Amino acid sequence: MNKKENNLPPLSPVTSPWMHQVMQSPSTVYQLMEEYGSPLNIHNTEPFYQNHNEYKAIFESFDLKHLVLFARKANKCQGFVQATKSSAMGVDTASYQELKQCIDLGIESEKLVVTAAIKNRKLVELALENDVLIILDNKDECELVQSVAEQLNVEAKVGIRVSGFTYGGKKLYSRFGFDIDIVENLLIEYFGTDKKFDRLKYVGLHFHLNGYSIEQRGVALHQCLDLTESILSKAYKTEFIDIGGGFLMNYLKDEKEWGHFEETLKLAVQDKHREITFQNHGLGFETTENKLQGRLNTYPYFNKTPRAIFLHGILTCQNEHGLNNAERLKALGIEIRMEPGRSLLDQTGITIAKVVFRKQDAQGNWLVGMEMNMTQMYSSSADFLLDPFVIHQNPKKASEPTEVFFTGAYCLERDVLLKRKIALSQLPEIGDLVVFVNTAGYMMHFFETEAHLFDLATNLFYESNQEFTQSMDFHLDT
Ligand SMILES: *Cc1c(COP(=O)(O)O)cnc(C)c1O
Repeated sequence: MNKKENNLPPLSPVTSPWMHQVMQSPSTVYQLMEEYGSPLNIHNTEPFYQNHNEYKAIFESFDLKHLVLFARKANKCQGFVQATKSSAMGVDTASYQELKQCIDLGIESEKLVVTAAIKNRKLVELALENDVLIILDNKDECELVQSVAEQLNVEAKVGIRVSGFTYGGKKLYSRFGFDIDIVENLLIEYFGTDKKFDRLKYVGLHFHLNGYSIEQRGVALHQCLDLTESILSKAYKTEFIDIGGGFLMNYLKDEKEWGHFEETLKLAVQDKHREITFQNHGLGFETTENKLQGRLNTYPYFNKTPRAIFLHGILTCQNEHGLNNAERLKALGIEIRMEPGRSLLDQTGITIAKVVFRKQDAQGNWLVGMEMNMTQMYSSSADFLLDPFVIHQNPKKASEPTEVFFTGAYCLERDVLLKRKIALSQLPEIGDLVVFVNTAGYMMHFFETEAHLFDLATNLFYESNQEFTQSMDFHLDT
């Protein structure tokens, strides 16, 4: 095979009409960039409601009592917290600030939960003063909540975080939660009148699993249901089971492109195709002693089981008696809860940054320097595998294909915004804008830092009003 002739494999993202409305109004975007600086995050809440409705429809189809709690940590904007108020959504909070903000915004306590990995006294006080459910992770936390409840002379509604589910003959390890095998004894020994944790009112179970397995979640839910049946006979009533987050979303349009990308990457790593990533980064693959090893170490950006399909799969998972989770929940009258973050934010955000320079490195690669840094679009997996869009100030009539890497503002060799080499129809000019789509879930905020004393990116919300006028309304997230 001729190593030079092969094209770069594209990865076309799924996009929404609002994103194109924004991109097709370059003068507005340049103006916003002028006013707020680069990069700029723009959000739209419409898909947020649609994503929630998708989950709701599944729960309703099984006639289940349910509550979808938005995992607040996946995006820092208050706008999404506000948006939960006009739907039946709640909010999963993981810090004092997150909880405080929800309370200040007037979210009802029944719609809130605290799942923070670290709960200090201040957070527990705030939760109990406002009658907010706390999910307990360990016995020290039980002691703390008991102590604060005594101090405030209140009862504390608590859920137990459970882990250690048996799957495929082995226990699933987690650093979080109580091992499922000890929960029943914990309740019997400590929970109830005249017992050590007499201020704690057990109301439900919670789990959140790592990874994206439908089956593991289905099995974990069955084991929680088994536990609720067992403790019900000891007079501990379970009102809800919360199955956490980690619901898949799909970022890419084309399964064939996805497959082709992975195959090409494998060839490149084995030196059988020209490089398609920065310094031939393997994204999890490597070649040792002429053998390809490892696996693609990224989020499954293309997948066929997003959101509703994922949830449906969990609810229809059967136990050894042929009963599925939905039937069991219904029969026991237990409310099912979930805490999606990323998948609720699907299609709700884009990140736009300005081109500052272009240069060719010693290997002849075009590097396009962006006014933005790697933490402002950072995937916890090996890379963010979506083709960006470019808003050219001077679009050329004839295409002049170019291949580039986008580089960032941190003084690190590895501040390359996308590890993939990207094919463009022309070389961007200084001041052109690059649009990275679907960045609202974690990508834009979760790892954002202020090294070099750079400002954090500005967050705007966009509302299209185009049914009546062509006006575009942007407002700051406050
Ligand atoms: C992070 C987290 C979530 C949200 O996970 P997503 O992958 O964004 O859906 C939900 N619950 C808990 C406890 C979490 O830690």
